[in-house]
Amino acid sequence: MGRELLDLREELLFGLRLLDDDFDDPVAVAEQVEMVGGVAGGMSAATRLRRLDPTAAIIVLERSKYVSYANCGLPYYVGGVIADQASLLLQTPASLDARFDLDVRVGTEAVAIDPIAQTVTARNVASGELTTLSYDALVLSPGAETIKPPIPGIDLAMPLRTVEDMDALIERVGRKPKHVTVIGGGFIGVEVVENLRHLDIEVTLVEAAPQVLAPIDPEMVGQVHKVLVANGVDLRLNAQAAAIEHDAVVLASGDRIETELTVVAIGVRPDTTLAKQIGLEIGPRGGISVDEFNRTSVKTIYAIGDVAEKRDALDGSAVLVPLANIANRHGRVVADHIAGITPRPVPAQVTAIVKVFHMAVASTGWNEKRLKAAGRPYIAIHTHPGQHAGYYPGQDLMMLKLLVDPETQQILGAQGVGVDGVDKRIDVIATAMKGGITAPELMDLELAYAPPFSSAKDPVNMLGYIADNIATGQTKIVHWDDVTELQAAGTPIIDVRTAFEHKRGSIPNTLNIPVDELRARIGEIPKGKVVVYCAVGQRGHTAAMFLNRLDYDAYNLDGGYKTWSNSPARA
Ligand code: FAD
Repeated sequence: MGRELLDLREELLFGLRLLDDDFDDPVAVAEQVEMVGGVAGGMSAATRLRRLDPTAAIIVLERSKYVSYANCGLPYYVGGVIADQASLLLQTPASLDARFDLDVRVGTEAVAIDPIAQTVTARNVASGELTTLSYDALVLSPGAETIKPPIPGIDLAMPLRTVEDMDALIERVGRKPKHVTVIGGGFIGVEVVENLRHLDIEVTLVEAAPQVLAPIDPEMVGQVHKVLVANGVDLRLNAQAAAIEHDAVVLASGDRIETELTVVAIGVRPDTTLAKQIGLEIGPRGGISVDEFNRTSVKTIYAIGDVAEKRDALDGSAVLVPLANIANRHGRVVADHIAGITPRPVPAQVTAIVKVFHMAVASTGWNEKRLKAAGRPYIAIHTHPGQHAGYYPGQDLMMLKLLVDPETQQILGAQGVGVDGVDKRIDVIATAMKGGITAPELMDLELAYAPPFSSAKDPVNMLGYIADNIATGQTKIVHWDDVTELQAAGTPIIDVRTAFEHKRGSIPNTLNIPVDELRARIGEIPKGKVVVYCAVGQRGHTAAMFLNRLDYDAYNLDGGYKTWSNSPARA
């Protein structure tokens, strides 16, 4: 359908819904709408509402000096990768007024709400002047605040959330510190680290957990640690910052890191200051509790973005998802609802990606840690495919992981780590999850192929083939974290790679019988349970099927030596 036709259809639907008496209780007629926060969520809601409603008075209150800025680009401006600050500042109050007739007030903070009188008190940050504004509908999108651990000297650590934070950080980095410490190895922490290294600054990354990037499972993140270290980052895992001084960060272990500047990036929490003032219901995860249309416990007040809890796409539980896509999407949900359109509820699947030097790390859905903690059954599948055909120059291997419900074959989550092509695969899987495509059905997807781009069996198809082999009982697998227990139980583990590969590195105490020699050397393998492994799982699959035909109880090591050797099992 052409764009004009779609627009016309939308207008007609809009008109019809305004006449629909059964409509799920929108804000009666919203002549005056206020947004608190003028970036991802707030500005999406404001501009969408204007497209739907040409006459409503829409006021956007934004505490900072900037509106609609690209906070996701801030680390790259610090590192000089993005050279032009203006490119981060997507709109100005004047441009938003000209195009959308929005009354955008920067440097203006919402300081109080009266939900009975339906008013907001706005304070001019520079002058302190207070103004009272009436609303028919109020949208809260104030975002999140940086979590600052309660340790001595924490106020010396600089956050990175706003353009003002970025300017302050650039000013300090401009004084050419030799060494900076970043506390927190989440997405933003890792981005800051990379950008500081880009400026040739020595960096220590302090992370309390045994790994960076918490959404990624431990066997997937090993490569990320290697990349950080290879790029000169002093990576301190299992390290807790205990105090920050002007020239040092002191760790709980007693270690002292001499440093000129500290950045804190241990995560964010919903900024519920206003919500708590007026007693809006706060959910179990500490965000504002909202219904499927993002209405809070006061029906004329909506909440979106980092401040609001989301409904998890898998189990419907409350989750916090401080990501831009869903903040924007919920902005549209809210604008539609205010305008009288019944929007489709948008649960959170949680799809994310981050660049770590030359690598991409991406995930969608649940990870194995979370599935385990929830006691939910799953099968994990690991592969190490190239982003394109091996015979085409420049192939790089990536690492993919798929998590599957063993009963229904529903895809529960996926992760990818690699140089090239990870984004495409995770996005395809995320789309499949949204569409309810099962794991074996991934092999049926007809994906674009020519040698520079993919293989005739795309890595996503391969995951589907493996899922199907498992679902139909053709393959039985064990995982990297089963190996120690299997060896303790005396199960023979056979390396079916070549003698050369085995010599270059293998799982300790494993017998090497290359797959092509299995027939000839079958007498060396005692009957019963046996595990085989190869580099990535493909030759292992052939070997296991061969052994099972000979009445062995053979299992293939999922993801092969590559997965095992990247995992904590190797340590
Ligand atoms: P925000 O976009 O943070 O906007 C909230 C605004 O509200 C702020 O400008 C604040 O000044 C204003 N405000 C707060 N209180 C008041 C008040 N009382 N009165 C008036 N104004 C107020 N997400 C991704 O998906 N991918 C990424 O790569 C990514 N990178 C990021 C990098 C950085 C450095 C940061 C900080 C965030 C990143 N995010 C990323 C997260 C993403 O930017 C947020 O999830 C998204 O912006 C949330 O939108 P929001 O509207 O809830 O809040």
